[in-house]
Amino acid sequence: MGKNTTCEIRCLKCGEWFPSGIQFGDAETFFSSTLTGNLQNCPHCKKMTGCNKENMRFVERREDGRTVITEGKDAYSKQK
Ligand SMILES: [Zn+2]
Repeated sequence: MGKNTTCEIRCLKCGEWFPSGIQFGDAETFFSSTLTGNLQNCPHCKKMTGCNKENMRFVERREDGRTVITEGKDAYSKQK
């Protein structure tokens, strides 16, 4: 988890990804503290959607130009 990592959420209503805007330290802290009952306002369909590790991903933009996407459920299991 670098500082170029952003967290995205997939809207459960329309299926589009959008940046969560949630600040986090590392995945484990993030999932254990921030997530439960958290609702985000989808910019695509304007509906509120819940977020949990199954509909989240981390998008890391590396210095060499590569973009690495980690599914939320995978990020969580790696931290264990
Ligand atoms: Zn939506």
